[in-house]
Amino acid sequence: MDHFAYRNGELCCERVALGALAADVGTPAYVYSKAALLESLGAYARAFAAVPHVVCYAIKANANLGVLGALARAGAGADIVSGGELYRALRAGVPPRKIIFSGVGKTREELRAALEAGILMFNVESRSELRVLDQVARELGARAPVALRVNPDVDPETHPYIATGLRASKFGIPYDEALEAYEEAAGLEGVEVVGVDMHIGSQLTKTAPFGDAVARVASLVKVLRERSVDIRLVDIGGGLGIRYREEAPPTHAQYATVLLPALSELGVTVLLEPGRSIVGNAGILLTRVLYRKDTGEKQFVVVDAAMNDLIRPALYDSWHELRPVDQARLAGPMEKADVVGPVCESGDFLAKDRELAATEEGDLLAVMSAGAYGFVMSSNYNARPRAVEVLVDGGRYTIVRRRETYEDLVAGETAL
Ligand SMILES: *Cc1c(COP(=O)(O)O)cnc(C)c1O
Repeated sequence: MDHFAYRNGELCCERVALGALAADVGTPAYVYSKAALLESLGAYARAFAAVPHVVCYAIKANANLGVLGALARAGAGADIVSGGELYRALRAGVPPRKIIFSGVGKTREELRAALEAGILMFNVESRSELRVLDQVARELGARAPVALRVNPDVDPETHPYIATGLRASKFGIPYDEALEAYEEAAGLEGVEVVGVDMHIGSQLTKTAPFGDAVARVASLVKVLRERSVDIRLVDIGGGLGIRYREEAPPTHAQYATVLLPALSELGVTVLLEPGRSIVGNAGILLTRVLYRKDTGEKQFVVVDAAMNDLIRPALYDSWHELRPVDQARLAGPMEKADVVGPVCESGDFLAKDRELAATEEGDLLAVMSAGAYGFVMSSNYNARPRAVEVLVDGGRYTIVRRRETYEDLVAGETAL
């Protein structure tokens, strides 16, 4: 269901009208739909119902405590990549036994904190990290539950910045070195080998790379079992794409259909780490038109959201649909314009050469599909306070992060 739709001539999030919301909380504002969050989480649960599984939401996509809390109460675990994300997950009420720790550069302090919290599994990305984890665990008199992140060397056919499953990437242990690394792990006193992990990239719109990668992981699990390494957990990572424009990503069911045969045969508990596909289309960035500017060469629409709020267009050249909040604009004239923010960079744009309904100063625009890798990647560049975040539930909303103030901007700094 589309949780961002026009009602009575105005774009709404669930039953909250965005015009009234903007008047209350100001712009720019991130607006999330709780129903949309729970719908995508539920779609994973249904698709993988045939096997024991835990959906460990990759919180780097959107780590707001309100978002995490809603997902945790609906049964989600968390995939974390830092000590800060561990803190967030625990604060939001994610049970430690549903937390997985991924990432190539975990520090000793972060490893210790996660061991003390009693998390489900460490996804170890190198043999050096394995040795450090073993040492930290032994110091604590603990055994760290470990999976090695294996790099299955498949091409996910996505943007190069978010492709992680190729041999040339910094992520994971090369497939043909995995057995040796597992043998070392099995001999370490501070480590208990429990799983195998993969994550091949993000915004994948085809099922074949997932299928190829899981097939490789499944054969590794079989070899490991022959060598008496008991693998109980297989983590298939995240990466399922969403529709930003005209992409046609697989449905949850299609994704599961490709993966389930190999996984059920193994008799393991399946761990999933979806991020974007849980939150991406559950959030928008609401912004107001400040100025219009015609250079003769080009038409510019200057809005109050900028690259510090949403860096994806600048970083990945990504495309986000822009919808006028006032539906009547759709019946008016169209124009071709660049939609840009106030930041002093030519890379500060939300859309380039975009055909869109002509807007006027003061109009509200919704930047669609901004729930993932939006607010979490925001910054204070140009001394811009970060946007407010709002979680909508039916006809009501909660401010789940207040807009930053100028005081917040300088908190922790010292003037000399
Ligand atoms: C980023 C990441 C994810 C989530 O990826 P999405 O494309 O957002 O689903 C999952 N696992 C790991 C290890 C990641 O780095």
